[in-house]
This record gives sequence, C-alpha cells and structure tokens, in this order.
Amino acid sequence: MRNDSPKSGFATRAIHHGYDPLDYHGALNPPVFLTSTYAFDRSDTGSARFAGAAQGYVYSRVGNPTASVLESRIAALEEGEAALATSSGMGALTAVLWTLLNAGDEIIADKTLYGCTFSLLRHHIQRFGVAVRFVDLTDPAALPAALSSKTRVVLTETPANPNMRVVDIAACAEICRRAGCLLVVDNTYCTPYLQRPLSLGADLVVHSATKYLGGHGDLLAGIVVGSKAHIEQLRFIGVKELNGACISAIDAFLVLRGLKTLSLRMERHCQTARRLASDLEAAPQVARVDYPGLDSHPQRALAGRQMKAFGGMIALELKGGLAAGRAFMDALKLATRAVSLGDAETLVQHPASMTHATYDSEERLRHGFTDGLIRLSVGLEDYEDLRDDLLGALARIAR
Ligand SMILES: *Cc1c(COP(=O)(O)O)cnc(C)c1O
Repeated sequence: MRNDSPKSGFATRAIHHGYDPLDYHGALNPPVFLTSTYAFDRSDTGSARFAGAAQGYVYSRVGNPTASVLESRIAALEEGEAALATSSGMGALTAVLWTLLNAGDEIIADKTLYGCTFSLLRHHIQRFGVAVRFVDLTDPAALPAALSSKTRVVLTETPANPNMRVVDIAACAEICRRAGCLLVVDNTYCTPYLQRPLSLGADLVVHSATKYLGGHGDLLAGIVVGSKAHIEQLRFIGVKELNGACISAIDAFLVLRGLKTLSLRMERHCQTARRLASDLEAAPQVARVDYPGLDSHPQRALAGRQMKAFGGMIALELKGGLAAGRAFMDALKLATRAVSLGDAETLVQHPASMTHATYDSEERLRHGFTDGLIRLSVGLEDYEDLRDDLLGALARIAR
C-alpha cells in the first residue's frame, strides 16, 4: 500500500507521508515506541550499527521509529532531504549552533528574534568563543558589509517574533551562498504550509514544533530540516553528544497527530487573523498594528511573494502605550493571557515583560519593538467572538 507520492499535495503528505499502516498490522496511526534501547540479533550487528556500516536503531537518543515517521513527514513538507526531531525548539536551535560553530567563528543574526534565541546569542554563546553580530536583515543589502571570513551562520526568523518584520529569504540565501556561509531560518511562525525556506535557498530550517506544527498546546518539540549530510551531523554530534535534546516518542506521535490538520488550521488562523488585524487597525484606541497582510505593513509585497498567506500572529501597540496594553490584556474575556503561540486557543501576551524580557529596554528599542507592544496568537475560535472580545476590551478601557 502506498498512500502518497512525490506529486501529492501538501495536505495529503501531511496525513500520509512516511507511514504505511500495512507495515504495522494495519494500524491507522503509527505505534508509539516506548523504548530506550534496541536488541541486536548478534554482537556484530550492534558493532556495525555503531560504526554506521549498517542501518538500524541503537538507542532512542539517536533515533526512534515513531520519531522517524515524524522526521520523514516534516522533511517532505519542507521539501528538504532529511529532518531531525528534538525535544523543543531551543533543542533544535542549540543542536544546529553547537554542531556547526567553532570558537573563532561568527554568527550574523537578524536583530529581532524569539527571546530565548536572542539571549543565547546575546549572553551565552560568547563564552564558547563565538562572536555574534545583530544586523537588520529586512535590508538584505546590509548583509554583505556585515559578513567576514569568519562568518559561518546567518540566522533569521521571518516574520520575526514578536514584531512581524519580514526578511527576504531568497535575497539573503543568495548572499550567503556566494559568501560560503549557511543560512538558517526559524520557520516557526509560518510552518511549511505558508513558507518553505529551503526552496528559497536556505540551508537549514528550524522549528519550534511546540507551536503550529503540534497545534494544540499539549507538547514541546522541535525540528531541523536540511540536507542528509547536515542532518546526520546534527543527529550524531548535536543531539547524540552535545545537547541530548532528543524528542520523546509520545511527543513525536502528538506532533504527527497535529500535522494531519495543519493545512486546515493554518487556513483558519490566517483568515481570522487578517480580519482581526483590519478591525484592530481601524479601532481608535490602537496606535499601530503589525501584520504582514495589511497594506500598512512595510514589507506587504515581499510577504505576499514569500508566504502563501500572512499567518496567525499579530502585534499591536495601543495609543496609551504599556499601561493601556496591560489594561487591554486584563479586560479580555475570551483571549487567554499566556505565552506560546499556534494553539487552538487565542493567546495574548506582553513581550517586553514576558517572552522578550531577555532584551533590556534599550535593546528592545534598538532591535525594533517597544515596551507597549502586545502579541496576539489568533486561535481557531469563531471570528465574531474574537472580534467582540478584542473590540469590547478596547471600548471598556477607553471608558
Ligand atoms: C517558541 C519559539 C522557539 C523556542 O521553541 P521551544 O519549543 O519553546 O523551545 C523558537 N523560535 C520561535 C520563533 C519560537 O516562537
């Protein structure tokens, strides 16, 4: 039985790729292999597997059959050769950076990043002799001047967490290719349903699968996708020997379950977010809305070329700044005050005091977001209910 082919559409691959029920007694869903280790028929087999001369599992920090289904499925969706599943998005990111970088190397990173990624680069990785430069990659022309012979990795998110700046992946990829360094794109905000960085020339894609890929706020996981050679290196050095951040079989199963509805969920997230972004922009209490699908977004055209739709994340700033933003969050009745994103529930948080408290206030301004910024992860509830909640809260705080 063969469920999908290379020509199958996205939703078909998200449901079927990499798993044949007839291999497992017809079980529609892949078994959850709760095992840490794997028996060898003979000692020779074990030695050959350790030497890489024979295929097969040896220990679940290095590979697990449930995780393998997830890895092959995500690789197919991102149009990459191979993938490595990890215990979290930060596990994916550290596997990449700690494997690829040596003391003396440099990283160039876009100036707005998820808070813990920023903190890793701003406060910690220097201890290992790696230098970091933060550059505004929304202007790819700024990249060549920042590159040096020591630059090994260029890292960006797009749209960037939390302020929705959009980076031209193809333009950056071309500059990196000529300079001989690797472009790593954190594709968490988009998922492969909306944007496929490898097809635009990036070398590696990382994800927090905790967010849209899982989609239900019930797991932590990460993924890296890229060439077979890179993924082998990340698996056998990055996760096996450097960070140990292997995915659990149960979490791999849960991400696979989430993937089955990824295309449906992303369509709805995008539709509702686009309508809410317009509603919020028109509200008198709102100073600014950052959403790549709005005509007011400075990179609206680029986002339209690079993304299939504009995503489910919105950033907004109220006219009353931080105090008004906090009052707004407290006045919401349906949207839940919580960090994370990409869940069925609409989540609202305050980056400056929560996810991005790793930036000090001067850094926040320099890196492009204010203390008053509010981040909204638009969920799957009815649009009308969300609209009433958001506009109702704005009206209540204005009184
Ligand atoms: C959440 C997030 C991460 C970190 O992922 P975890 O699964 O929480 O470790 C990395 N990048 C982005 C863009 C994120 O939103």
